[in-house]
Amino acid sequence: MEGAVSFERRASRQILVGDVAVGGGAPVSVQSMTTTKTADVDGTLQQIYALAAAGADIVRCTCNEIAAAEGLAHIVPRSPVPIVADIHHQYKMALAALEAGVQCLRLNPGNIRNPHHVKAVAEECRDRGVPIRIGVNGGSLDRELYERHGGRVTPEAMVESALVELAYFSEVGFESVKISVKASNVPLMIEAYRQLAVATDHPLHLGVTEAGPPPDGLIKSTAGIATLLAEGIGDTIRYSLTADPVEEARAGRHLLEALGLRERQNVDLIACPSCGRAEVDVIDVAEKVREALAERRLPLQVAVMGCVVNGPGEARDADLGIAAGRGRGHLFVKGVNVAVVPEDEMVGTITEWADYIAEHGTEAALERADVERAEREARSDRDALLEAQGTDANASAERVEQIHRISSQ
Ligand code: SF4
Repeated sequence: MEGAVSFERRASRQILVGDVAVGGGAPVSVQSMTTTKTADVDGTLQQIYALAAAGADIVRCTCNEIAAAEGLAHIVPRSPVPIVADIHHQYKMALAALEAGVQCLRLNPGNIRNPHHVKAVAEECRDRGVPIRIGVNGGSLDRELYERHGGRVTPEAMVESALVELAYFSEVGFESVKISVKASNVPLMIEAYRQLAVATDHPLHLGVTEAGPPPDGLIKSTAGIATLLAEGIGDTIRYSLTADPVEEARAGRHLLEALGLRERQNVDLIACPSCGRAEVDVIDVAEKVREALAERRLPLQVAVMGCVVNGPGEARDADLGIAAGRGRGHLFVKGVNVAVVPEDEMVGTITEWADYIAEHGTEAALERADVERAEREARSDRDALLEAQGTDANASAERVEQIHRISSQ
């Protein structure tokens, strides 16, 4: 059995975004942002529901004009998750969004720079009990700070920007704040958050900004966010992908499940990389299994293995798995063979068993199986394959001999 390891998390104060607690030991939450015009109430709500279904706990919508604020007034009461209004440049849009009932604001200190305006918004939030995210962004850092830090975006400049804003809030007795210091450069972003984590105990919102389209955007975001989470830093996360935001929510949720920071709700598909022993096109079968299980929210680990010689052993901890052998699929539950099916039924069979286990549990699945027969058939396939392939399925010995032949010519 693989042991459970958990990361010690940085102690942070807790704020409430609607009914979602952020910081202070609360589960790390997933955020995403709508791409619709906020004035398009139905379109935006449709996207919010899709994001919530994919794993978003909090959704942000832009509030860039009065029509957007009016849209928010209709969206907020019908949204399944708390709504954050994204504010740039116009502090009056922040006040309008609060009037619309949003559960949080995001302010960019780089483009709302008048302290009176910042404090006016903070006072209003204080009186309404609505938190603010100070959203520092490397690309839109305050000009004066940028110049003072040598005409470069540095971690120190980003942290200073956040702390200046925080000081304005403190002056009016407003403390319900979470902070982000995002950059598109991963090492810069990591260092900025590390410094911020020491400088304050406010909860932190993690993200790599403008990460780009997948897969590069996913890799960059995961590199930055996962590094920090593994250090215990971060209370809420957002993947910023140039893609359908549903992908952002899904990626965020999967990352947290993979790190053991959120309870598993989705299938954890493991698959071998394939090798000379593979009895099936593992990539194809794994992709078909992934597609078949994608829409099901089953908290199971499912394995797809290329051969019956090593597959079942290597994936023995999986809730359910299938390994290929001599034109047949060997199905196993927690390492126990439960059925042997024709190769073209592998995907359908694994889907059916996954549903069964999710509904009735592992014990019931083992009870309904003819284990003795499955073991017998599996053994005969395994033995036949071992006899045919020997222990050198990758033909290493033959290759070495060939190399010797070439070198002696
Ligand atoms: S030995 Fe079998 S299970 Fe392991 S990588 Fe090769 S095909 Fe997959």
